[in-house]
Amino acid sequence: MAKQMAYFEGEFVPIEEASLNVMTHAFNYGTAVFEGIRGNWNSTHEELYLFKVHEHIERLVQSARIIRMNGKYDVQEISRLVVELAERCDYREDIYIRPMVYKSGLDIGPAIHSVEDKLLLYVRPLGDYLDPEAGATVMTSSWRRVDDTSIPARAKVSGLYVNNGLATSEAKQNGMTEAIMLNQDGHVSEGAGENLVMIRNGVLITPPPSDNILEGITLDTALFLAQEELGLTVERRTIDRSELYIAEELFMTGTAAHVTPVTEVDRVEVGDGKPGPISRELQKLFFNAITGELDKYHGWLDSVYKK
Ligand code: PMP
Repeated sequence: MAKQMAYFEGEFVPIEEASLNVMTHAFNYGTAVFEGIRGNWNSTHEELYLFKVHEHIERLVQSARIIRMNGKYDVQEISRLVVELAERCDYREDIYIRPMVYKSGLDIGPAIHSVEDKLLLYVRPLGDYLDPEAGATVMTSSWRRVDDTSIPARAKVSGLYVNNGLATSEAKQNGMTEAIMLNQDGHVSEGAGENLVMIRNGVLITPPPSDNILEGITLDTALFLAQEELGLTVERRTIDRSELYIAEELFMTGTAAHVTPVTEVDRVEVGDGKPGPISRELQKLFFNAITGELDKYHGWLDSVYKK
């Protein structure tokens, strides 16, 4: 029987036992950094494959450094704990693992440099986040992406996600599946929980990290597959909003969303309004890679049950 568990204060515990004091700094000031890691269930292999654990924990530690966490966080050791937690939970379905480093001190005041911090991990089942078949309809949000001079978007800081939340709710309440945010300069940044890739003249184009994006792990993987498997050219450059209306294809990438084609932006159809052929091809390749169907990419995966 699967059971939802957490790694909390140095121990594996049932999720109900992982709770925080209301005075916790992270709860009061949004001072936690987090990751999302997918576990993808392959029913034929009877195996749960965790995708790029090491890369996610590396990014977690980088985020922690940016907001001046003090603890020593060892990427190898945390990666091992992630796999062990997944094994202990014993899920036979797609899951989502949330590693977090949070300011656990009970101090009053927003200063971040001298507050104690701790590691926390938990797991939950998670199916499709966006509809992979129908694709996503998106709108350009009236909310601008936080700037590196305000809260650095390359760090997954929990408090920063209020920015994403405002944009997501605006999109959903306007009948769209997802928001795209422009940065302070008015250029395309990213989706509220995904990176964005545009295809023009057959070239895959995505904004550079300096346009206030999260440096996406799914994005890197999708661009790698596009180059290696499909022989396509990839470019990182600033994107104007109006280019989205004339793109051949658009797709979003993210741990929760995988590779999801975008079919509509601001009520303008992308191409013929159906998921584009390159997006579809990449979506398939990515799915096969993360579910352990492509031997050459097994190095990206941790097998939870058969070591
Ligand atoms: N941008 C934002 C704002 C996100 O929250 C996410 C999800 N982590 C992404 C992009 C995609 O990053 P990744 O592929 O590493 O999950």
